[in-house]
Amino acid sequence: MFELEKIVRKNILNLKPYSSARSEFTGKEGVFLDANENPFGSLNRYPDPFQKELKSKLAVLKSIPVENIFIGNGSDEVIDLAFRIFCEPGKEKALTFSPTYGMYDVSAEINDVELIKVPLNESFQIDLASLENYLDDELLKLIFICSPNNPTGNNIENIDLMLQKFKGIVIVDEAYIDFSTAGSFINKIKQYPNLIVSQTFSKAWGLASARVGTAYADTAIISLFNKIKSPYNVSELNQKAALSALENYSEFEKRKAIIIEQKEWLEKQLSTLPVVNKIYPSDANFILVETIDANRIYNELVDQKVITRNRNSLVKNCIRITVGTAEENKKLINELSKIKR
Ligand SMILES: *Cc1c(COP(=O)(O)O)cnc(C)c1O
Repeated sequence: MFELEKIVRKNILNLKPYSSARSEFTGKEGVFLDANENPFGSLNRYPDPFQKELKSKLAVLKSIPVENIFIGNGSDEVIDLAFRIFCEPGKEKALTFSPTYGMYDVSAEINDVELIKVPLNESFQIDLASLENYLDDELLKLIFICSPNNPTGNNIENIDLMLQKFKGIVIVDEAYIDFSTAGSFINKIKQYPNLIVSQTFSKAWGLASARVGTAYADTAIISLFNKIKSPYNVSELNQKAALSALENYSEFEKRKAIIIEQKEWLEKQLSTLPVVNKIYPSDANFILVETIDANRIYNELVDQKVITRNRNSLVKNCIRITVGTAEENKKLINELSKIKR
């Protein structure tokens, strides 16, 4: 049985959160003399601390109640808050897989939480047998699963099994889910009280600069996120940017289709190049490519002003290529084809 109170840090459970002016009076009309704002200017008022308008749009899009949604300053805030809610510094632990997104590690370090890194198998899938030893550890509170996984690009299987076996919290990082053929775990929140699904406006929605990340979970977990977030964690400008992206859904669909089409074009072109050894299948907007020598290829591309991500330290001789515009992708292939074996 999953018992949230047993997973949450005591100080967070007992915390009386800060009550901001805008959370105590939520009306829109009136003479506002409550928040020590400046009466002049255009960005002079504090934003809605709970982003109600944005959440109500997301609720419709994702078919989930508003109470199951948290909005953060990028999904990196969601990761950080999860550590702070669930893991006692210097004592409790989290677990993820490798290779994966580097922020779990950094955020664990910042929060003084030990992060266990279990290697994915050759197909970059979870090796269930090697996991058994860890799941019963009383001090293990959080598991991060990135699917589609960054930097490998594949969907991760057996997430349901983890949700069933583990008594702590499982965070499924779906930063790339909009590009994926796999379904989101959002519709399993009712089924699993220990599930947090994290998504972002940074990738498929094209708003990396706006810093808007979302978490979907049981209302009890969402309340904890709201309890410890900074009072006005998403700016008015950023809430508006996300709202306007949601209102322009057809543009989102159109761009996403172009990116997926371009990814397929890139995969085809890459497979003909002598410096490419292997192309990993991708359900995201990037491709992990094994080259004959990642350091050399990366540097030669930089010399030609094409910047890829050198992932040699994570997966030997691999570079990660983000899908760009047709023109950008042509430039990449053109430069890569000039590099000698
Ligand atoms: C890019 C990325 C993020 C970052 O999301 P932000 O909302 O921009 O903070 C989170 N998780 C993964 C796996 C990513 O690749």
